[in-house]
Amino acid sequence: TVTLTDGRRIPLLGFGTWQLRGRSAYESVTTALEVGYRHLDTATRYRNETQIGAALADCGIPREEIFVATKLPPDEAGNERRTLERSLEALRTDYVDLWLVHWPPKGAGIPTWKAFAELAGEGLARSIGVSNYSPAQIDELIDATGVTPAVNQIKWSPFLFDRDRLEHSRARGVVLEGYSPLRAAKLDHPVLEEIAQAHGKSPTQVILRWHLEHEVVVIPKSARRQRIEANFDVFDFALRNEEVAAVDALS
Ligand code: NAP
Repeated sequence: TVTLTDGRRIPLLGFGTWQLRGRSAYESVTTALEVGYRHLDTATRYRNETQIGAALADCGIPREEIFVATKLPPDEAGNERRTLERSLEALRTDYVDLWLVHWPPKGAGIPTWKAFAELAGEGLARSIGVSNYSPAQIDELIDATGVTPAVNQIKWSPFLFDRDRLEHSRARGVVLEGYSPLRAAKLDHPVLEEIAQAHGKSPTQVILRWHLEHEVVVIPKSARRQRIEANFDVFDFALRNEEVAAVDALS
């Protein structure tokens, strides 16, 4: 886990659920929880909150042990409360651990961010953050409201590594969360293959471990048990500083 600016903690490795629908969403999330994932990433837009809610209800794991994140579609700006209430109903929970603005509504969406802060104050969302925000948009939010997003979820991979972006987030206490870690990568890149071989791991596992070394949250998605397991099997090795630097240099 890493600690968010509001003092709560987020598991660094989560399970992504974009494009998982229906039975496959229920089964994949159930498998992920069995394997050990305790952080689920969904969104109103993914149209799978109902299946995730069913998996959460059936898994037998206490609600407080699972970190659940969902997102407001920007075209629901103005309908924040109703949208969150619908998410909570579908997810069969009284609160989400993290609620994100999925993309910036026109500009930085100051009124939406104020609504987020209000709903967080009521306990419906434990932490609030944003997604797909530029550094300038993050600063605009903070300047206008004094409320720092706990997280910015953006597309991230070794091939998109951007030290300035990471440092901008860190300096403000915003935890960077990467999405599409595998889709945005070249999984057979020789640098990744060489490091993977040295650790008896796969390039995919090296990419996920690299996120952990940087304390960047990562949320790989898979619909297959074997990959769901492999993507979680990254806690028994560590990258050396030179290896982290070599992966950074892929961008
Ligand atoms: P991803 O997790 O990088 O990659 C998923 C793809 O990689 C799927 O096609 C999956 O196929 C395959 N895969 C998974 N594990 C693999 C492995 N070990 N080896 C080879 N291939 C593997 O991409 P993503 O779903 O775009 O991103 C992850 C999560 O981030 C999403 O699910 C979503 O929760 C979030 N996200 C957020 C935004 C945003 O705007 N905030 C945008 C995109 C994504 P199989 O399923 O067939 O295994």
